[in-house]
Amino acid sequence: MIMMYLVLIYGLLLGSFYNVVGIRVPQKKSIVAPRSACPHCGHELKAWELIPVVSYFLVRGKCSSCRTPISPIYPIMEALTGFLFAFAYWKVGLSAELLVALLLISLLVIISISDLHFMLIPDRILLWFASFFLVTHIWFSWIPWLDSFIGAAVGFILLLLIAIISKGGMGGGDIKLYAVIGFVLGWKLTLLSFMLASAFGAVVGVILMTFRKASRKQAVPFGPFISLGVLVAYFNGEDLIFWYVTYFM
Ligand SMILES: [Zn+2]
Repeated sequence: MIMMYLVLIYGLLLGSFYNVVGIRVPQKKSIVAPRSACPHCGHELKAWELIPVVSYFLVRGKCSSCRTPISPIYPIMEALTGFLFAFAYWKVGLSAELLVALLLISLLVIISISDLHFMLIPDRILLWFASFFLVTHIWFSWIPWLDSFIGAAVGFILLLLIAIISKGGMGGGDIKLYAVIGFVLGWKLTLLSFMLASAFGAVVGVILMTFRKASRKQAVPFGPFISLGVLVAYFNGEDLIFWYVTYFM
């Protein structure tokens, strides 16, 4: 149980770092310097303002210097990373598989942050994670190599086709992201994850349109839906496929 809390805290701290990565990398800024500051008045954040989730409530969601509201995306992503890390530990335990799960969660959190802020998934982040997964695969094969390569090809081609058919409904970042996801999930779960992502996206799209928050033409970042679909497929995909085959085929 202590281990679970440690993983949770580790996730909260990394989540805070991922906010920095997801916002600075698309702007081609360094992720180590300078220190985090308010983008509005330049006030440098003190140590007590850098506590994941807690600080957001301590400053009541506003910059402590100029009172400009701080985006709730920050604490939400910190809390989400902590929760997902703890969930992964609960699901797979302390094993080599945990490294794969934590890497996957990290990739998805970072690209979601970047996509929510800039509608962009940077190549650099995809390249880093592609290398991490490649090295990890050499050390520990969570799925056969062949399945990884077929998965990467399936993910890339599927999204490319959809981008062509929908005439730009899918960005270049989404296509490359799915090659990395395919490598991690294998072809079967890759297809499942995309069906789930589309379903989640459609449901939220209808809700947003009903409340007139978004028009039909307005672009909605697809990264967060991809992330949700991938996580459900990764952690529960085999069960979902088994359930589907049992009841519908
Ligand atoms: Zn400020």
